[in-house]
Amino acid sequence: MATNPAIQPSAINADREAGLVTIDWTDGHRSQFQAVSLRWLCPCAFCRGEAGRPGWLDSMPTLTPEQTQLVGMRLVGQYALAPTWADGHDTGYYTFEALRAGCPCPTCAANRSISHTLSGKASSQPTKEIQ
Ligand SMILES: [Zn+2]
Ligand SMILES: [Zn+2]
Repeated sequence: MATNPAIQPSAINADREAGLVTIDWTDGHRSQFQAVSLRWLCPCAFCRGEAGRPGWLDSMPTLTPEQTQLVGMRLVGQYALAPTWADGHDTGYYTFEALRAGCPCPTCAANRSISHTLSGKASSQPTKEIQ
């Protein structure tokens, strides 16, 4: 299976001062995430819930400045980013696929609203672990 250039980053920049994460994709697209919105996307079991149970973020908590302050960013194999937040939370692995699917730019937002079926299919694809 050929690698989809739309989910391969060519450059990743985590600006801790500005609270901005910028990802340039190999297909030329650029996604820019605010740290706050990234925190809300945290895919970990604690935030998202598991086995059908709601997660912490589902209760719409009020996030403290520590919980949305980006203090670190790790690359997980070749497939995901793992941010570290000032409250010590670091268990969220954001796959490139999910990040691209969640791109907040107007173009992608418009695409998402007209193609729900496509994004549903993308999320059911198996994740490939590199290391
Ligand atoms: Zn989390
Ligand atoms: Zn976009």
